[in-house]
Amino acid sequence: MLDVFIINALSDNYIYLLRNEDKNITSVIDPGEAGPVIKFLNDKSWHLNEVINTHHHHDHIGGNRELLDIYKSKLIAPSYENKRISNVDFLVSDDETVNITGISTKVLHTPGHTLGHVCFYMPEEKCLFSGDTLFYLGCGRVFEGTMKQMWLSLVKLRSLPDDTSVYCGHEYTLSNMKFANYIDSQNTLLNKVSLEIKNKRNKGLPTVPFNLGIEKKINPFLRSDDDNFIKSVGLRSNNNASEAFKEIRYKKDNF
Ligand code: ZN
Ligand code: FE
Repeated sequence: MLDVFIINALSDNYIYLLRNEDKNITSVIDPGEAGPVIKFLNDKSWHLNEVINTHHHHDHIGGNRELLDIYKSKLIAPSYENKRISNVDFLVSDDETVNITGISTKVLHTPGHTLGHVCFYMPEEKCLFSGDTLFYLGCGRVFEGTMKQMWLSLVKLRSLPDDTSVYCGHEYTLSNMKFANYIDSQNTLLNKVSLEIKNKRNKGLPTVPFNLGIEKKINPFLRSDDDNFIKSVGLRSNNNASEAFKEIRYKKDNF
C-alpha cells in the first residue's frame, strides 16, 4: 500500500513523497529543491531510500545532490538523460519494470518535452507520475523533441486505464483550464470540471491527482486525433493528428 504526499516547491512545482509503510521504504520524485523534502522527512522521522527523476530540468533535479549527500539514497533516472543527471545508481529505460518504493512500476519513455523524459506508472496502485509530459488539462512545452514525438508520448499515456490517478510536475491547471475553455467552450464535462478546479484553487488546494479517464474527454491535447473535436473547434488539420496537435500547442504557446 502506497501513500503519496504532495510537497509544494519553487513557484509551481510538485514534489511527490512516496511512502510504503509495510516495507518501510520512502522515495521522492523530482525534488526540484531539497529543503522542503528534508523538512517533511524530519517531521515524519523517515529515512529517504530513493530519489527518482523524470527528466533533467533543474526544477526537477535541483535537490538531488543535497538529498543524496544526507541520506545516501539511490538515484533512479532515465537512461536517455545519463549525461545530464549526475550520480545515477539505476538507469531506467522504456517498458522496463522496476521497483519504486517497493512497488512494481512500469517505465514509459515519453520524449518531447525533453528527449529522454520518462513517466512512471504503477498498475497496482493505479497511479501515474507524468512529470512534464502530461499536465492537468495541458501538456509540457516541446523543447527537445518533435511535435510528433510529443503527440505519440501523449497517446502512450492515454492508453493507460481510465481509473488511473495522474500526478504531474506542475500546478499549471488554472492557466491550462482557461485555454481549454477558450478552444472547447461547449464541452459540458469541461465546464463542470472547471468549477471544481476553481474551487480547489480558491482554497489553495492542489488540483492533483486528476483522473485520466475524465482527462481523455477534456484535455484538448489528448484529442488531436478526434476529427469531430478538431472540426468543431475550428482547427485546420483534419486527419493528421500530429499536425492538429502542433496547431493546438502553438495556439497555447501564444495564448
Ligand atoms: Zn521540465
Ligand atoms: Fe518542470
